[in-house]
Amino acid sequence: MSAYKDLKIAAWNANMQLKHDGLAIQTFGNVSAFDPAAGVFAIKPSGVPYSRMRPGDMVVVDLDGRVVEGALRPSSDTKTHAVLFKNIPGIRGVAHTHSTHAVAWAQAQRAIPLFGTTHADQFPAPVPVTPLLSDSAIQGDYEEETGKLILETLAALPGPSPEMILVGGHGPFTWGSSPMQAVLNSGVLEEIARMALLTLQINPDAVPLKATLVQKHFQRKHGKNAYYGQE
Ligand SMILES: [Zn+2]
Repeated sequence: MSAYKDLKIAAWNANMQLKHDGLAIQTFGNVSAFDPAAGVFAIKPSGVPYSRMRPGDMVVVDLDGRVVEGALRPSSDTKTHAVLFKNIPGIRGVAHTHSTHAVAWAQAQRAIPLFGTTHADQFPAPVPVTPLLSDSAIQGDYEEETGKLILETLAALPGPSPEMILVGGHGPFTWGSSPMQAVLNSGVLEEIARMALLTLQINPDAVPLKATLVQKHFQRKHGKNAYYGQE
């Protein structure tokens, strides 16, 4: 019996949810589940279709991306996940997708403007996009450099840190307090991305939502006197 059985099941469940939610086709996308006490995470194996994936196929790796347990090769994005787990406090899951609308904004190299309350409920600022990686980063330790670029972009933000980002020219990474929360954030991001695109199609001169509405929606869900949902 694997010492990491629960972690592998958590990772597998979240990966299957990604597929179920329409956020990944073919072998696209990957989700990981982190155990901070053990210093390891379980991640989707590289290039295995969701239809054939079993919990036992999840690969357990340490924070340097070295395989601790598993017969398959881990996702090629494993080192990006490792950088995020090492540096973002409190997170237990990371998800990466190539969902269409989020990717479209990443390819346009544009942050997603905050046009409405759906977005403000999640995060009170545009969803950031990283610049493109430098040639030396691309030719070096590409996946680790991707993680570092995400951290640099987050560090440069003026306000609170989001649980989602677009990697320029590539696609979204999201994270959260659990692997399933990371997947839910990927779904929210895809929806925000789609709505923002439609908004600009209807009105190319649409302006960002005014600050009072942004703060009302963000604070009622995330502020210290939040009253959204059930106690
Ligand atoms: Zn990717």
